[in-house]
Parts: sequence; structure tokens; C-alpha cells
Amino acid sequence: MKKLVIGLLILGLLLSLAGCGVIPLASEKTSGQPPQKAGVHIVTSFYPLYIMLLNITADVEGVTVSNLTRKETGCLHDYQLSPGDMQKLQGADILVINGAGMESFMDKVMRQYPQIPIVEASQGLEFIMHDGHPNPHLWVSLNGAKKEVDNISRQLASLDPSNQEAYARNSSTYIEKINQLQSEMHRVIDPAPQRQIATFHEAFAYFASEFDLQVAAVVEREPGSEPSAGELADIIEEIKNKKVAAVFTEPQYPTTVAEAIARESGVAVYALDPAVSGPDDKNAYLDIMQQNLEVLREALY
Ligand SMILES: [Zn+2]
Repeated sequence: MKKLVIGLLILGLLLSLAGCGVIPLASEKTSGQPPQKAGVHIVTSFYPLYIMLLNITADVEGVTVSNLTRKETGCLHDYQLSPGDMQKLQGADILVINGAGMESFMDKVMRQYPQIPIVEASQGLEFIMHDGHPNPHLWVSLNGAKKEVDNISRQLASLDPSNQEAYARNSSTYIEKINQLQSEMHRVIDPAPQRQIATFHEAFAYFASEFDLQVAAVVEREPGSEPSAGELADIIEEIKNKKVAAVFTEPQYPTTVAEAIARESGVAVYALDPAVSGPDDKNAYLDIMQQNLEVLREALY
């Protein structure tokens, strides 16, 4: 029995290699190094996608995942690729990106690697628009995260058909876990008396829409674009007029401006996590959202 299982695993691995066209580098033979263990190496552009991939590829033999940008990077707005990032990119068999403009800093670089197939998590999804640009933060809502997981698993399956069943099975297991948390979140957030919130940047647009909350004010359009004195006054005015429940900071960014705004407006400050950084753990997104739920349970009541 054991031999049969090992045989099947090897067969599966061989089929997956044939399917993906992954061949160990020929130069390794001449350099005297032992040939690298071949397989499908998936590189994700940033943390939320990395966590999705840990789930979608869980226990799939021969498939490895690494994250291009450092875990603590946060949202990728205006990110610059480091030489180390470039090296990781060169080793990718498949690159998974969010799309909707989140990785626009990579456009030029990717043209240098036309051979690396790209899986786009937001492909075909509906966007909330801001000033003519799609808001890329789909994963911050649970519906958006589920759609992206499903999207990735389907596109991955077409690039690596030998593991199609495993990807589909893993993604439905993961989506079921998100469903359970989503029901619990609706049970708590739906009846909350306070519906108006102020957030640090545009990360919570989909989340707010999903739970019927109104983002009355945004402290910074994009991280790093600090509001002018005039804009600050407008934000404070908005928060007072709309009786905003709380100003939400994000753990990845400085909180000084948001705290000053909250103080001036006389409202409380809490942290909401857009799940753009965190531990190397496949349950991290669920844990972060559970923590957000605990914060909202306090802030909206
Ligand atoms: Zn962002």
C-alpha cells in the first residue's frame, strides 16, 4: 500500500511537471551541482494573496509558494522592487497578482519576463471606483476574498491541470471557513446601532459595502499622502456632522494623523487590519478578520 501511494505521488509529480513545462535547469548539470528538486513554484505579489495560496495549495505535492514582497510591506501602493524581490520573481513558474492597479509598479518589470504566466485574482470582478480608478482592496471584504480565492484556483488549475482537483477541493474548504466567519460577522455587525466610520486609507470600501457601513471620511487617500490643513478641517467637520462612531487606524501605518483627527472630533480610535501583513500561517486572514470583528463589536455599539 505504502509503495502504491509513493508511486502515485511520483506519478502525480511527473504529470504536474509535464503539464507546467517545468524543467530543471540544464546548467546545473554542468556546474556539478545536484539537480534542484523540480516542481511548480508560485510567487505571490503580496501578503493577502500569499495566505490565499497557502490554503489553495495546501498539501499539494511539488507545489511551493513564496511571497515577492516582505510580509511587513503592507499595501503595495508606490512599492519599489528590491534586487532580492527581482531574484524571487526570476524563480517563479507562476506569478499571482491582485490586479486592479495594485501591482502597477511591476508592469515594466513583467514585460521583461513574458514567459512567466500571471494569475490575476481580481480578473472579471466588479470594482468600486474612486476618481476613475478601480479600488484594488477586494480581499478586505469576505465576499471579495472568496471571489479571489475561487478566481485564483480556477486560473491555477488551467496552468497546472494535474493538480486541478486538489486546488478545487482546497479552495472550497477554505471558502467554507470564510463563510462561517462571515455569518458570525453579519450576526454581530448587522444589528449594530452605529453605521458611520472613518478609515485610514481606501482599504475598507468593499468591507464597508458588505456590512452596510458608511465610510464617512478617509484620512489618507493612499498611505503617505497626508491631508493638507484644509483637508484636515473638512475631515473633522465630516466626522462631527455624520456622527461617526470611530476613527480606524491600520496597524501597518503611522497613527499620528488619525489620532489627532479623532481627538479634534471627539471620537474614539480603534485599529482595523486590512490583512496586508501578518504571520506565515494559512489561518492568518481568518484570525485577522476575527480580530476586526472583536474591534467592531466594541466600536459600533
Ligand atoms: Zn491599500
